[in-house]
Amino acid sequence: MKLRPPYHAFSAWLIDMDGVIYRGAEPLPAAAEFIRILQSEQIPFLFLTNNAIRTHAQYVTRLAEMDIHVGEDAIFTSPDAAKAYLLAHHPPPARALVVGGDGIHQAVAQAGYEETARAEEADIVVVGLAFDITYAQLAEAALAIRRGCPWIATNPDRTLPSERGQLPGAGAVLAFLEAATDRKPIIVGKPETPIFEQALAKLGAKAEDAIMVGDRLETDILGGHRAGLRTLCVLTGAATRDQAENYTPRPDFIIEDLRDLIR
Ligand SMILES: [Mg+2]
Repeated sequence: MKLRPPYHAFSAWLIDMDGVIYRGAEPLPAAAEFIRILQSEQIPFLFLTNNAIRTHAQYVTRLAEMDIHVGEDAIFTSPDAAKAYLLAHHPPPARALVVGGDGIHQAVAQAGYEETARAEEADIVVVGLAFDITYAQLAEAALAIRRGCPWIATNPDRTLPSERGQLPGAGAVLAFLEAATDRKPIIVGKPETPIFEQALAKLGAKAEDAIMVGDRLETDILGGHRAGLRTLCVLTGAATRDQAENYTPRPDFIIEDLRDLIR
């Protein structure tokens, strides 16, 4: 099996996961075949996700359950983007006040920052989504942000799809803090460009040779376009065909599912 023209021409692939590779616990059609082709053709790719809750190891396990076998270095998350941004702009030693899940805590620790839970001790504030955020944590973050600490956020997604409907996403947490501080964070995840630039740098690829595959127009497609990549919208997730065809910037390619990439 090979990639169909014109898709075979791209020499680097950035691939969203939720709504593209799987939906909840269910793998989507041809996801495993698509990744196997990239691997056998030695075409560089990264899984690019705004989701800051899981760690790389957790993603690797989840993908393996769907017969997709990759190493941790095939995953690039919004915490990775936050880590790269922090190292470039606020290098350690520094103390980070973190509100978020395992993925963010791990990235901040790997970058060499000490964590603090107290606003008065914080040099930087890093915020993403977690399912056990408390008022007390948000209050400490708000106090640190009001003190003038740089405020970095993983992603702006206002909602998080679940079996029961749309749950509050990281963007809802940011809205809470924005209301409490009259400040806005620096967002590193999709659709902002840092995560795309860092992912391309990791692959050693140029934007014009690369393609972003995603299901969400306002993050994957808008962000890929802003970063100078070609964009492919797959209709197995957030967007309908009507929404994709009428979105500005219009995706360069729109496909029903990943089977359309393969011949
Ligand atoms: Mg998605």
